[in-house]
Amino acid sequence: MSEADTPNDEGARDFIRDIIRADLREGRHQAVVTRFPPEPNGYLHIGHAKSICLNFGVAEEFGGRCHLRFDDTNPSKEEQEYIDSIMEDVRWLGFDWGKHLYYASDYFEQLYAWAEHLILAGKAYVDDLTADEIREHRGTLTEAGRNSPYRDRSIEENLDLFRRMRAGEFPDGKRVLRAKIDMASGNINLRDPVLYRILRATHPRTGDAWCIYPTYDFAHGQSDAIEGITHSLCTLEFEDHRPLYDWFIDNLPVPSKPRQIEFSRLNLTHMLVSKRRLIQLVRDGHVRGWDDPRMSTLSGIRRRGIPSAAIRDFVHRVGLTKSENVIEMALLEYCAREVLNKTAARRMVVLNPLKVVIENYPEGQVEELDAINNPEDPAAGSRKVPFGREIFIERDDFMEEPPKKFFRLAPGAEVRLRYAYFVTCTGVVKDAAGQVTELRCTYDPATRGGDSPDGRKVKGTIHWVSAAHAPVAEVRLYDHLFAKPDPGARGDFVDDINPHSLTVLTDCRIEPALAEGAPGEAVQFERQGYFCFDRDSAPGKPVFNRTVALRDTWAKIQAKDGKG
Ligand code: ATP
Ligand code: MG
Repeated sequence: MSEADTPNDEGARDFIRDIIRADLREGRHQAVVTRFPPEPNGYLHIGHAKSICLNFGVAEEFGGRCHLRFDDTNPSKEEQEYIDSIMEDVRWLGFDWGKHLYYASDYFEQLYAWAEHLILAGKAYVDDLTADEIREHRGTLTEAGRNSPYRDRSIEENLDLFRRMRAGEFPDGKRVLRAKIDMASGNINLRDPVLYRILRATHPRTGDAWCIYPTYDFAHGQSDAIEGITHSLCTLEFEDHRPLYDWFIDNLPVPSKPRQIEFSRLNLTHMLVSKRRLIQLVRDGHVRGWDDPRMSTLSGIRRRGIPSAAIRDFVHRVGLTKSENVIEMALLEYCAREVLNKTAARRMVVLNPLKVVIENYPEGQVEELDAINNPEDPAAGSRKVPFGREIFIERDDFMEEPPKKFFRLAPGAEVRLRYAYFVTCTGVVKDAAGQVTELRCTYDPATRGGDSPDGRKVKGTIHWVSAAHAPVAEVRLYDHLFAKPDPGARGDFVDDINPHSLTVLTDCRIEPALAEGAPGEAVQFERQGYFCFDRDSAPGKPVFNRTVALRDTWAKIQAKDGKG
């Protein structure tokens, strides 16, 4: 092992891990401390998974620790329900903050003291301008801002006013505390940013103890410093805030000097990753709740049946860069298939049933046939599937007038019933409207198990269930929630909602082994896709969500792009 080749030089490589390796090697830090800092104003989405996997992943890889810190500085939008769901989602993703659970609100007293510190140093002032006036004084990217007429208040007056702000003497929005930095700065974030605002809202944790709240900018870096965070990893929209982040760290007697590093957000086609917009989808009833399986929320993705291992793999494949990009939704589905292929039990389910009567099969006879649970996992063993004279097959697996390459059932054609027998279609029964209602077949008893002793070949194998042993189930098929890959790009994202994103099938027939299952339990419906038990399942009435179809669109995209 060479000098630079410490154990930490193995494993994943990206620009952030390279910085961390260098910091450790050169002794700038003894251990890595990161944090995941969600604002509890909504449910986490797939974008957050990138940040979670990065922060917790880095801490794990380098033997450090990662804090979960709620950035709860805006009580008007924050709720306990969100706090609970965020903790559940982080755990589900496989990460553990141990005893390192924090809230920015834990630091309100310290942050307040630091605000007074800035006032005493002549670096903060109380401003009486309204929000609109402040905006107007701020200037633009090309135009310098203008000083507030209140900017030169004395230290004593500022201290007195700030204390009275805290004491509740002024109405909401009447005054703010601002840093005194530079109204002409090329970086608008440095044009005397607001540090505190007056807001009477009951806070989920501090109740009504405070009527002034620190801004994100004033709370974030200082919270990092209090906790001894070494690398404060955040998304690119905070790049322009970094000079301000550093300004606070440099101008306050903070106990440590964290370093902010930015990376690009995760964006996905056909999905929205913005809590604000997700709230709108829920509130306006476009979906059935936060955990609707069409949502980009982690709770929706979980309910849809995508395993957390697939999300970790997905985030890993997406990688870490500083350039904005949009990832194909198909990659997430590919990752889901990769995991589910190894773990999901195979079962036979008929989504759109068509009855078949096997005329030469003995009336009243039932056989138990052996079916393999998972060809990818011999340890999963096999199960017995009942077979009888009447079965259901998929309506799509029959065509009265088949085109040339149709190898499934048609009048006179012979196919294999998976794990059972060869059958030949001998008759078609129709209703008055001409709709096929039933098929008549004969079977070859010599082909039990699915092979013919005379070496006769059939081209098609179809799945089936025994009509006398097939409970009814509801199956929910999902398509993209948004018809466009870039919802909202041409206007209101609501206009891009796919009206066909949910199809509910209520007369599906399942094999007996599927009658019961725990919510979330994954199965592969043979030839169809991966599904999971939904939490709406009731005894005798299972409900399934389609997680992903078997067909792999990602492989196709790769092939088309010549990426092999
Ligand atoms: P949203 O825009 O959806 O409201 P946010 O950035 O306001 O997201 P926070 O709760 O502040 O949400 O985010 C917590 C952490 O997750 C932050 O460090 C943020 O940078 C990160 N994060 C949020 N969205 C993404 C994303 N799409 N990709 C990667 N990281 C993200
Ligand atoms: Mg945010």
